[in-house]
Amino acid sequence: MDELQPGVVVSLAPGIRRLIAPNAGPLTGPGTNSYLLGEDTIAVLDPGPAEPAHLARLAKACNGRARWILVTHTHRDHSPGAAPLAEALGAELVGMPAPAQGPQDTSFRPVRVPADGDGLQIDAFSLTAVHTPGHASNHLCWLLQPGGWLFTGDHIMAGSTVVIAPPDGNMNQYLASLERLRSLPVQLIAPGHGQLLDRPFEVVDWIIAHRLQREARVVGALARRTAASADELLADVYADTATSLHPLARLSLQAHLEKLLEDGRARTAPDGRFTLVS
Ligand SMILES: [Zn+2]
Repeated sequence: MDELQPGVVVSLAPGIRRLIAPNAGPLTGPGTNSYLLGEDTIAVLDPGPAEPAHLARLAKACNGRARWILVTHTHRDHSPGAAPLAEALGAELVGMPAPAQGPQDTSFRPVRVPADGDGLQIDAFSLTAVHTPGHASNHLCWLLQPGGWLFTGDHIMAGSTVVIAPPDGNMNQYLASLERLRSLPVQLIAPGHGQLLDRPFEVVDWIIAHRLQREARVVGALARRTAASADELLADVYADTATSLHPLARLSLQAHLEKLLEDGRARTAPDGRFTLVS
């Protein structure tokens, strides 16, 4: 295990470096991972928050060779540093613009908006955008070849499950975007938070199983009631989760309930409470 120390540029492999932003917290783990890809020409992936000392360290590490600033998505722990860094370095902003819904970094205005499958050539690497909606509708993972590194942003993070917050977050899309990874030549996951994960498909399997297990609990909790609101189900479905995390769990519960509606397994009454379709 490598050490997760904010503020120190760590070489992970030839042409792949990581710098952790100083924004550790309950949602961000040890802090946001910013990655530097390439040596002669550099792409910075997820500059993180617009934290001057962090951006200065990224700029120094680029040593005048930055050409692109990329983001996985526009949540505020991933992209607000992108615009100031691109301006300081004369680099091009690449990513999908912020959707209208939810807490988003609307300062991110990309020059290049990649479609799924679009790529960049960085030295001898090719870097390909993989559209993975679910955690956020504009979420991109980035696949670096050769080597099969998948930079997953918040689609997959190490050490905890990610929050799926409707309406921009969507559980059906999230599960489909996880399934999709199985068709890619991924050898290593480089997440937006936490350590590298070297058994990518075991990780994907675990996350899918965990989400479906939680869904089964939602179904079980609904089956014990004639109708229930998300608030009424929360303590039951998340009995294993610290109550301090229940406000976040409430968002994922909403996402599970909306998935059951989309799947035709539940319906809502006029008062907004949910009922299982038998
Ligand atoms: Zn996020």
